[in-house]
Amino acid sequence: MRKPLGLYLHIPFCNQKCNYCTFFSVTPAEELYNLYVKGLRRELKFFKQFGFTFDTFFVGGGTPTSIPPKVFEDIIKIIMEELAIESLKEFTVEVNPESLTDDHIVLFKDLGINRISIGAQSFIEEELRFLGRSHGVKDIHKAYYKLREAGFKNINLDIMFGFKGQSLKSLGYTLEQVIQLAPEHISTYSLSYEKGAIKDLRLNDEQVLASMFTLNKTLLENSGYLRYEISNYAKPGFESLHNLKYWMHNFYIGLGPSASGYYLNGKDLLRYKNTRSMVKYAKMEREYETLSPEEWLLEEIFLKTRTKWGIEVKDERIRKKIKEELGEYTILKEGRVILNDKGLLVHDAISLKIGEIYESSGKQIYV
Ligand code: SF4
Repeated sequence: MRKPLGLYLHIPFCNQKCNYCTFFSVTPAEELYNLYVKGLRRELKFFKQFGFTFDTFFVGGGTPTSIPPKVFEDIIKIIMEELAIESLKEFTVEVNPESLTDDHIVLFKDLGINRISIGAQSFIEEELRFLGRSHGVKDIHKAYYKLREAGFKNINLDIMFGFKGQSLKSLGYTLEQVIQLAPEHISTYSLSYEKGAIKDLRLNDEQVLASMFTLNKTLLENSGYLRYEISNYAKPGFESLHNLKYWMHNFYIGLGPSASGYYLNGKDLLRYKNTRSMVKYAKMEREYETLSPEEWLLEEIFLKTRTKWGIEVKDERIRKKIKEELGEYTILKEGRVILNDKGLLVHDAISLKIGEIYESSGKQIYV
């Protein structure tokens, strides 16, 4: 039997644009919901033919809570009618603290959502304003406690670090606030800049960034959270099953404008990326690429080395070479190559180097 896939749904609506953000989103409006549903129905019809089953479902965005609960419900029900998502192990929705309403919470329970991810980002008012977020610190607390009262037992808080004006002290304060709330999962993302963002907010000091990266680990691991991926920490047993599908290079389907997917079609490993236009999405416009064995291998190395499990390297010669050339950045354990703290800090460069070692070995696929 084929392994179940992960399902992602991009809700492309946000009430306002955060200063650093390049995710695709538009302002909520009735006519745009109609275009969205039109495209979604097309995508569902298309994917139904494959007979995929899913065991994780992640609704992100955008801001899923920027749309009225009724619209949200209709969208999820349309998906439930078409795809096999009746036996989900994990069903997550992302929420923004200021737009989460009581009605959303009741609906999330009714729909069987069992994991909530809150976009908190910082616990300092000035920092939230600087980032262009629409919520305040009080909103985070309010949303968190309401979700707990409603019985949600698996909550993630997203935190951001590495932006101008943030200091080690202010990051430490934010982390302490998060730890006091005691969510099951914490994501700490380093702010990046991509073309299309309103402003470049990056803190351009490599040393401070490295110290922030270390501070995240020290404070969170001292409080019972284990890092299982470069930016993700969880209490034991609360690792995100959906996100692990991406890092473990498993197959997933993404629905909605700008979403992407990766699946096996016959013998072809296909990746697709949906358009970032609502009008084109309604016509299901997307781009495909077929991954070559070399591309697949490089991706495999890039993704798996992000995690605490690293990557299995079967060939002893390659393991030996990795040890010789990258011993400072890696741990070799039971046939696996795992990046240590130093390696994770420069993950992209190290994973590329591992790829080069594979290539220079003369054989392409060993994992
Ligand atoms: S960061 Fe989130 S809430 Fe802000 S604009 Fe981007 S998708 Fe919307």
